[in-house]
Parts: sequence; C-alpha cells; structure tokens
Amino acid sequence: MLTAPAGLLNYVNQYIKKTPESAKMFADSARLHVNGVSHNIRYFKPHPFVVKSASNATLTDLDQNTYTDYWMGHWSLILGHAFPRVTEALHNQLDLGWMYGTVNEQTIKLSNIIADAIPVAEKTRYCTSGTEAAMYATRLARTHTKRDVIAKVDGGWHGYTSDLLKSVNWPFDVKESTGLVGDDKIISVPYNDLEASTKILSEYKDNLAGIIIEPVLGGAGCIPASKEYMAGIQEFVHRNGSLFIIDEVVTGFRFAYGCMYPAMSLDPDMVTLGKIIGGGMSIGAVCGKDEIMKHADTTAKDAIAHKEHSYIGGGTFSANPASMTAGSATLEYLRDNKSTYHEINDRGRQTRRGLKDVFGKYAIITGIGSTFMVHFPANKIHAITNAKQAARCDQKRLGRYHFKLIAQDGIFMLPGKMGAISRAHTKEDIEKLIAASEEFMGNDKAEPQI
Ligand code: PLP
Repeated sequence: MLTAPAGLLNYVNQYIKKTPESAKMFADSARLHVNGVSHNIRYFKPHPFVVKSASNATLTDLDQNTYTDYWMGHWSLILGHAFPRVTEALHNQLDLGWMYGTVNEQTIKLSNIIADAIPVAEKTRYCTSGTEAAMYATRLARTHTKRDVIAKVDGGWHGYTSDLLKSVNWPFDVKESTGLVGDDKIISVPYNDLEASTKILSEYKDNLAGIIIEPVLGGAGCIPASKEYMAGIQEFVHRNGSLFIIDEVVTGFRFAYGCMYPAMSLDPDMVTLGKIIGGGMSIGAVCGKDEIMKHADTTAKDAIAHKEHSYIGGGTFSANPASMTAGSATLEYLRDNKSTYHEINDRGRQTRRGLKDVFGKYAIITGIGSTFMVHFPANKIHAITNAKQAARCDQKRLGRYHFKLIAQDGIFMLPGKMGAISRAHTKEDIEKLIAASEEFMGNDKAEPQI
C-alpha cells in the first residue's frame, strides 16, 4: 500500500519540509565546525536533524519531529535515553561535584562491578573514549612482547587512533587518511576466514605483538565472528607469544551481563570497553591480566629498570565521577535485572525475523542479540560473514531505505549503520519499523541486484 511518495528525491523533499529549524541551525554549525559535525559519521545529506531532547526510545528535533531511535547514542544507551535511575544518580552526583581530578570512590565502585563481571579485568585503566582504550591496549601489547606489529581485521573499527587506522573502509588497501605515520606496523586479516588470516599472521609472526578483534563487527555491518574463528586466532597468537585483545567497546554488556568472550570460551589477555559501561557518559577502559597491566605501573621499579613500562592513561577527564556514576547506575541496573537481556535480545530476534519476512530474498539480515542490520545484496553476494561482502552490497539502496525511515516514518538509524534495541523499545516500535520496511520494499523502484 502506497501511503507516501517513494524515491530518494521525494524522501529528501519531505525531510527538507519537516526540518526547517534544523536546516537553519545546521548552517550555523557548518560555519563553526568542519562538516558541521564533530564525528564524521554524524553528517548526512541534505543536513542532519538537530536534536533538542531525548527520552526513552525517542529523539525530538528542533522542529518537534520525533524519531524512534535505533542509533541510541552510538549504541551506548542500552537502557534508553534519560533512564530514571541513571538520571537520579547523576543528579545526586552533580550536587557533589562532577570533576575531581583525584582518586574517587565512584571509580572504585565501577571497577568492582566490572571486575566481578569480567574475569580478565584483573586491572582496569579508564580513559574517556574507546579510541584511547584501543590505543593503550596496542601500546601495552607492544611493551609486553617487545614486538611492533599489531594485527586487526578488515573493516575493524577501533576509533581514529593512528595505531589502528588501517583497512577500515572498503577496499581496505587504500590509506585511510593522510597524516599517518607508522601504519606499516599495522597488518590486516580477513574476518571469519581462519586459514587466510593465519597465513598472513604467519608472515609477521616474529614481530607480531598482538591482534585486536571485535567479536561482532559493529561499524562494518553488524557481523558476528564465528566461535571457531575467534578460537583459532587465539590459539595462533598465544602459540606465537603474541597477545589476544578483544575489543568489546560495543559488545561489552550488550548481549549479556559482562563481555561476549566467555560465551565463546575465549581467554583474552586484554579487553577494551566503552559505550555501555559509561551509561551514556564519555568513557573508555582497557582491562587486562595483571601480568600485562603491570607494565603501566609507574611505581614498579623493576619494570622501569628493565624498560618494560608503558605510559597509558593521561586524560584530564579519565575516571571523572560523573561518567563513573552513570556507568555504575547502568551496570547495577543490568546486574539486578538480568531479564533485561532476555527482553531486548527477544526484541532483536523479533526484528530480524520481521525484516527477513518483509525483504525475503532481497535482503540479508545480520545481527545478534539486540542488534540488527539490513544488507541489500549486489555483486553476487549471498551471505555476509565479513566486511568486504557487506561493503559490496547495494549501499545506495541502503541509504534510500534508511533515509525513507527518517523522512517518512520518524525512525532513526544512522544511515548505513546497524540498529540497536534498548530496554525502552516496545513491541509497537518494532512493529512500526517492520511496517515501514514493508512499505519501502513495496515502493522502492530500484531493480534489486542479486
Ligand atoms: N571500538 C569499537 C568496536 C567501536 O565501535 C568504537 C566506536 O564506535 C570504538 C572502539 C571507539 O570508541 P569511541 O568512539 O568511544 O572512541
């Protein structure tokens, strides 16, 4: 049933009509900021809407349009926007001050919660972003092994740290940015292809400090790693005296209370965390076994004498009481209400099933737990197990789909990115998404390329 005009141009016109205040404000933003944004992926044409407020699963823009939000603060808000327990904890903390720059009990509280939930977190170092956490993990791996080369996977995103800024975007062999030095010390392997990966790792084995992998490729298409792949990589690197670092910035506390790696029977040396553990406030953390983390101990004379120390954690705002408090309030709620995972993972299943029914053979639906992503096949892609396949799908159609949801249906997924369901999303929200997707499928005139 055609209820609104289809086609990108119509979507854009509708969007322009409903977002005049955002357009005006964004013009000002563009005058003041490069691209008008402070994170490249937040820009989309003709202009991103400007958010005025958020609560539960809803964003409201300057023009009073509402959007059911599946971007959820870069997937950090598992309990929804302005979750009352977190709001209350933050209000209380604000009265006590929000920036100490000293040791504080709020930090110790959060670390106790994390250490109880994550076996590898024998020691934790906080920072204010997942990017920094990845950078520190890399440095610790190099220090511990006295080797230089760090491996990652094609499509793996660990933030803009120069230490890992390689092979993020298709076609993966093009330099990601100018201004980088030392990227010859980063190597990249194909995700979920153990044979090809270990072949590449073997070539660098004498100088391989470690590998960093996301158990679900988030930014590159919501693609879970197979247990066999992760186990095979772990076995290779450990046999080689290299470190196994799992980037759980997205997956930590997303699918179950704790990290994803125990469910895969893995034994990493370090994990990086961010997003959910800060309850929506800025955070990053590198957690690891004592034998690795001891290199960061600036009081350990032995490590210093043997040149085995590594300086990490220099942020003014690291372990600030506001982030620590929001993180603790969030994790405490999840710890005491583990049924939340059952509920949101169930909604995830409902979403993926619904999208599969709607799109049939014209889309591949990926995801796990409370995450999901639609890929429109092209270039004879019939399955998505790595970032290359995801990138070679029909990106224009995906852009049209996501933009139709924004313009016509008030549903927000950052264009091209996966969706994440929070505790605040209802069955009705999911039904609305499925109905809007069905309308897109019925109206989108592009010839599906399969
Ligand atoms: N690691 C992963 C897997 C991520 O998805 C991200 C961000 O999306 C990062 C690291 C970087 O985290 P941040 O954006 O907090 O710097």
